[in-house]
Amino acid sequence: MPHFSGPIRSKLPKVETTIFTVMSQLAAKENAVNLSQGFPDFSCSPDLTELVNKYMKAGFNQYSHMAGFIGLRQIISDKVSKLYGAYYNPETEITVTAGGTQAIYTAIASTIGEGDEVILFTPAYDCFEPAIELNGGKPVFVQLSVPDYSVDWESVKKVINQKTKMIIINTPHNPSGTVLNHDDFEQLEKIVGNTDILVLCDEVYEHIVFDGLMHESITKFPNLAERSFVISSFGKTFHTTGWKVGYCLAPENLMKEFRKAHQFIVFAVNTPIQHAIAEFLQDEHSYMDLSSFYQQKRDLFLSMISPSRFKAIPSKGTYFQLLNFENITDKSDVDFSVELTKTKKIASIPVSVFYHKKVDAHVLRFCFAKSDETLRLAADIINSI
Ligand code: GLN
Repeated sequence: MPHFSGPIRSKLPKVETTIFTVMSQLAAKENAVNLSQGFPDFSCSPDLTELVNKYMKAGFNQYSHMAGFIGLRQIISDKVSKLYGAYYNPETEITVTAGGTQAIYTAIASTIGEGDEVILFTPAYDCFEPAIELNGGKPVFVQLSVPDYSVDWESVKKVINQKTKMIIINTPHNPSGTVLNHDDFEQLEKIVGNTDILVLCDEVYEHIVFDGLMHESITKFPNLAERSFVISSFGKTFHTTGWKVGYCLAPENLMKEFRKAHQFIVFAVNTPIQHAIAEFLQDEHSYMDLSSFYQQKRDLFLSMISPSRFKAIPSKGTYFQLLNFENITDKSDVDFSVELTKTKKIASIPVSVFYHKKVDAHVLRFCFAKSDETLRLAADIINSI
């Protein structure tokens, strides 16, 4: 295609193709076991696909309500009340989105403008920073402490100023697999207490928490929930990352702004899947059993790689496990992950890409949302490195 030769002012001059696409493509090209991009390699429940079929065949194929099918919003509200004791009005405080990423983008686009500062913790999931920049905001980075990836709230206090408009948190945390605890939320509450700072809390892995820990949702803290967008994702919960359905919770005044942007970013989310999920969610096992399902996978993976030279701190949540390779090589994590994909036929994600200033702690992220067979293949390779 011939193209116009004038200058194009890039709004994201430094951004390249997301690491998830890069590594999954490389894994496919190299025929490597792909533990890089986070997605299950096994099927979702056949009951769920049958429900989607049922609703498609029954003619639920036109636009849904802009904010999502009300039956789905209702059952989300019930789930959040039951699990976290917080009431969100399905009419005005819940919006169904085309996945977690769209919800995050929309929350940022609807509240962040020119010159606003947004605090985020690195390593940070890669969609936050460009969403802030596309809307004229300025990302302000605070590093999580290594190796436990905890938040140093004192350093957060130091970067807050008049321009701070939002703090983004993520628990369970991608890529580190750590979780925020009650004390973290109390600290955050103190910090934002007398300010106008909003919070965006990415909880897309809320149903994947290990070792008997309970997920601390920001919705449990009324003084924080009153100023927060809370994001979740059915892709993670139902093994359907390709369906791109998630949701956002927020108090009415914030949700009103969110919907102003949402209706022109995506308008509405596909109808039959919303109906199917609404019905599927009626059985609470559909999400309450997920932690034990993934804990079995985490434990299997960790036990199988115990002879390897990689070092692991067991993941506390998400379906990611970090492995430290400083005993193996002093190569950069990017070089090492590419090399492993090409020569050992196993793909992972180098954690330095989640930093603003490429901090390389010699750590790779492996996704264990895989069949036991895939995990076995992966473990054999890892043990040979
Ligand atoms: N959330 C997934 C991960 O962290 C990837 C999602 C995506 O590819 N955009 O691997």
